[in-house]
Amino acid sequence: MNIPECTEIAVVGGGPAGLTAAIESGRAGCRTVVLDAGITPGGQLTKQIHKFFGSRTQGAGRRGLDIAADLAEEAEANGAVIRTDSTVQAADQSGRLEVLNGARSHGGSPEKMQLEHIRAKRVVLATGAEENAIAFSGWTRPGVMGAGAVQTMVNIHRVLPGRKVLMVGAGNVGLIVTYQLLQAGANVRCVVEAACDIGGYGVHAAKVRRSGVPILTSHTVQEAHGDSRGVRTATLVRLDKKWEPVPGTEKTIDVDLICIAAGLRPNIQLSSIMGCRLVHSTDLGGWLPVHDCSLMTTRSSVYVAGDASGVEEATAAMEEGRLAGVSAAESLGRLSEVRASGRRRRIQKRLAQLRGGPLGESIRGAKHQIQRAQSI
Ligand SMILES: Cc1cc2nc3c(=O)[nH]c(=O)nc-3n(C[C@H](O)[C@H](O)[C@H](O)COP(=O)(O)OP(=O)(O)OC[C@H]3O[C@@H](n4cnc5c(N)ncnc54)[C@H](O)[C@@H]3O)c2cc1C
Repeated sequence: MNIPECTEIAVVGGGPAGLTAAIESGRAGCRTVVLDAGITPGGQLTKQIHKFFGSRTQGAGRRGLDIAADLAEEAEANGAVIRTDSTVQAADQSGRLEVLNGARSHGGSPEKMQLEHIRAKRVVLATGAEENAIAFSGWTRPGVMGAGAVQTMVNIHRVLPGRKVLMVGAGNVGLIVTYQLLQAGANVRCVVEAACDIGGYGVHAAKVRRSGVPILTSHTVQEAHGDSRGVRTATLVRLDKKWEPVPGTEKTIDVDLICIAAGLRPNIQLSSIMGCRLVHSTDLGGWLPVHDCSLMTTRSSVYVAGDASGVEEATAAMEEGRLAGVSAAESLGRLSEVRASGRRRRIQKRLAQLRGGPLGESIRGAKHQIQRAQSI
């Protein structure tokens, strides 16, 4: 019989949210293990070669990959064990996790993979987000890829998946990946955006435009043409206010890569199978687990943090991770109520600053509503 190894806190996901959760729970003296499916801890940060904005507390002015390395080091210095190439592929409501080890390191060789069970008193789900796809004629052809996959190929594996690129989506991800493709030597023909406004920060859009790449708002991709070897051309079309194609505005351009950056949604696979109640929030990317202001879900032993609790940015993910780590440690009696509340107040103040101003208004409102749903 496979007797599960027991730990106090299992953090699933070693991105900024998971690592900061582990820093806080480790600091409070909890036996903490971080399980991450990737080869290197850091989640999305490991692909981010650009410098971050925001405040110094969350690493502003530094590159994502450097922030990731520092967080991992700090988590280990606080006693957390970080296990990479460890995918939690199933979980039950009692905190028993089924972990598949070695699926990536050995090229998927079944003999080298190992299945293991871990039992945790508390689980922090910091599993990040998944990319949205969009369907159009020819969207399954080779050469139509998500922005996350393109970013992994370019920034981690140093492989350019195409030379003539159409970027679909002008949110921050679309704009940043456009710029990184240009830096890697690709010719980005244009960025199309279905909405009538650019969703990403003005500073990113300005950089893309300064590089000579047009951003066409109220436009989308209608068809990817090519064959089984890949995309050859793409047809673009203008959209009216109802996002309906305007006949006669079609234009075909030469491309061999269509990169889709159509937004992210919280990764809720584990929270749903662990029985956490879910709620839908358009402002936070879709379905997500209901949680209170300490990030506890409707299962009292399960906490959630980062993009898995609603898509925001790495800066917010770092603060939410800390909040979840402090709350989970308190629930195990490793932090007194007074100390935990003091820490939570400081973290919540920083989160409020990150979500401040008109840009953060929809996030603030959505989080508030979800926290109210927890108390119903
Ligand atoms: C192109 C791009 C540019 C960005 N630029 C910025 C920026 O400039 N500033 C900023 O603040 N934010 C930026 N972001 C957003 C930021 O990267 C994310 O908001 C942040 O990484 C979310 O952190 P997280 O820890 O919640 O999730 P992630 O970083 O996605 O980490 C989740 C981790 O969970 C692991 N995982 C998932 N499921 C399992 C499982 N079942 N078992 C084990 N492990 C699992 C994954 O392997 C991953 O390592 C950018 C994002 C992108 C895509």
